[in-house]
Amino acid sequence: MGVGEKIDINKGKLPYKGRGLSGCIDINSKSFEEQRRHGLEKLAAAYRIFARKGFDLGLVGHISFRDPEFSDHFWINPLGYHFGQMKVSDLVLMNFDGELVFGKERTGDAAFCIHSEIYKSREDIKSIAHAHPMYGKTFSALGKELLPISQDSCAFYERTAMFNDYDGVANGPDEGINIAKALADKDFVILQNHGILTTGSMVDTTVWYFLNMEEACKSQLLAEAVGEPIAIPHETACSTRDYVANDLSAFASLQPMLDVLWEEEPDFLD
Ligand SMILES: [Zn+2]
Repeated sequence: MGVGEKIDINKGKLPYKGRGLSGCIDINSKSFEEQRRHGLEKLAAAYRIFARKGFDLGLVGHISFRDPEFSDHFWINPLGYHFGQMKVSDLVLMNFDGELVFGKERTGDAAFCIHSEIYKSREDIKSIAHAHPMYGKTFSALGKELLPISQDSCAFYERTAMFNDYDGVANGPDEGINIAKALADKDFVILQNHGILTTGSMVDTTVWYFLNMEEACKSQLLAEAVGEPIAIPHETACSTRDYVANDLSAFASLQPMLDVLWEEEPDFLD
């Protein structure tokens, strides 16, 4: 039996935790079916959040998570579906060979190349988000590093790689391999002349870091447009980063946005 035939995404549904943080669970203590279904719900919701933020230009951008049971497979969007309409049942499973294992339509070639190469090179990464948001892609064109100029932007201090070798659309394996190499042991990467990319241990943290990274790019662009921003000193930047940008904090930060979706757009669960 193939991997796709073993999967039923309608199994493993967990009840809604309710608004706020008190109902949050440790998903890693649950079964593979529950982890998969939970991850798919978060992934569909993540696309809706990207649409609400305006990170939905044409066909660019993709968010994925590694299947909890079949670790050389990942769930991602089918090409050509608007992020604002994404549902659990739209999401597709790809393996590292580029085969569509579950779902109706393949993801885009660039999405496959970037995500598969990062997952292959980093076993600890369980989720990846990439898009071309206005401030992220504009900041990327400067070839500069993000500075710790605010409490929020400390999240990226010494955790962000630069990929300075834009070589056209990443629709072949080389670009994915080179981005994975540039990322190395960091968590985030600025893709020069292209956009931004975040990774994490789950969809929630990856997506929160992405939203925050776009904000950090915007903040630095604005500050540098009118003056010379003052960076927070090294020791303080490190301790602030560890306090505001650990996984627990990033996870918790995304929950209120997910709660809004559960109430306003529950069809993402279909
Ligand atoms: Zn891109």
